Amino acid sequence: MTPKATETTLEIDLNALRHNYQFIKSKLQANTKVLAVVKANGYGSDGVVVAKELAKIGCDYFAVAYASEGIQLREASIKTPILVLHPLPVNFEGIIAQNLEPSIYSLKMLRDFIDFSERKKRKGYPIHLKLNTGLNRLGFIASEIAAIGKILSETDCVKVRSLFSHLAASEDPNERIFTEGQIEQFHDISEEINTLLGYQPIRHTLNTSGILNYPEAQYDMVRCGIGLYGFGNDARFNNDLIPVLSLKTVISQIHHLKIGETVGYNRMGHAKAPLKTATLPIGHADGLPRALGQGNMSVNISEKSCPIIGNVCMDMIMVDITDVDCKEGDEVIIFDKKHTAEELAEQMNSISYELLTGLSSRITRVISYS
Ligand SMILES: *Cc1c(COP(=O)(O)O)cnc(C)c1O
Repeated sequence: MTPKATETTLEIDLNALRHNYQFIKSKLQANTKVLAVVKANGYGSDGVVVAKELAKIGCDYFAVAYASEGIQLREASIKTPILVLHPLPVNFEGIIAQNLEPSIYSLKMLRDFIDFSERKKRKGYPIHLKLNTGLNRLGFIASEIAAIGKILSETDCVKVRSLFSHLAASEDPNERIFTEGQIEQFHDISEEINTLLGYQPIRHTLNTSGILNYPEAQYDMVRCGIGLYGFGNDARFNNDLIPVLSLKTVISQIHHLKIGETVGYNRMGHAKAPLKTATLPIGHADGLPRALGQGNMSVNISEKSCPIIGNVCMDMIMVDITDVDCKEGDEVIIFDKKHTAEELAEQMNSISYELLTGLSSRITRVISYS
């Protein structure tokens, strides 16, 4: 049990995180490595806290999007290998200084990084080759393989640690044929590169939904993000994964309105009958989009659903508590294990990923153990 919230608080349940990690492991063969994706501050939680906990229980690899995120983990004394998914040339210096491992996705970038590590007099610096198999976001295509082989044959200052690709629609059963085609392409391209290199880097292509829906393509490692935080992008996994994050706040002030009075900016909320409202210290600057205003979301107070009234303000929302027995200072649940972030994300026509990663840094993070 955690004490009741006294301000807007994001609880990070480390037991739930461990559970999800073990559940993902249970879907894999014993020797398949797990790379935990902790980009965007650990999907909005706390990247350092999450990475430290996962390192403790034997997680093999971490991935971040940008170099600055990897540097933050290194500065917190995290020693596990860290893949930087989207390094930019301007950050090569920091990447090498902190022993981060870049994803290389173009011939130019490969040459530039090799030049850079030559100047730094590095031998066998680990790099990861990103292969584009249909997401068309970042990555080499099949016709570039020969050139990759030639460039790499002329240097010993880098060594390919892994070959990887990313699935475009692994959560969508209607895209099974496309996804299987991506996996097949990944297989073929990586075999070809292996032959050119004369050694076998780690191979990985599955994200969370890939692990759950295509475990046969796990190769040597999988990259798990959202699953570790408790969501499997499919109701089938709701009983297996436990949401790690709970967002709670408190009632700042209660108002009693008469018929005809209005609530909030632009007077968008209307008292059509006598109305009791609660003002809560959380707004769009905290990551609750304005699109959730005017009844498009509800919070829970004393186990009762309370719809939002009027517009979301920058720092506050007002909710209808007409039929709720509560007082100022009482706890309010925005989302938790029962009223999930995934459900709230649906209310904003979005996905758990966007809601979680949008939670602002001014929200207090606390660690809990369920
Ligand atoms: C974010 C990301 C992941 C993690 O995806 P989930 O669906 O959260 O598991 C894996 N691989 C790459 C390349 C990513 O960008």
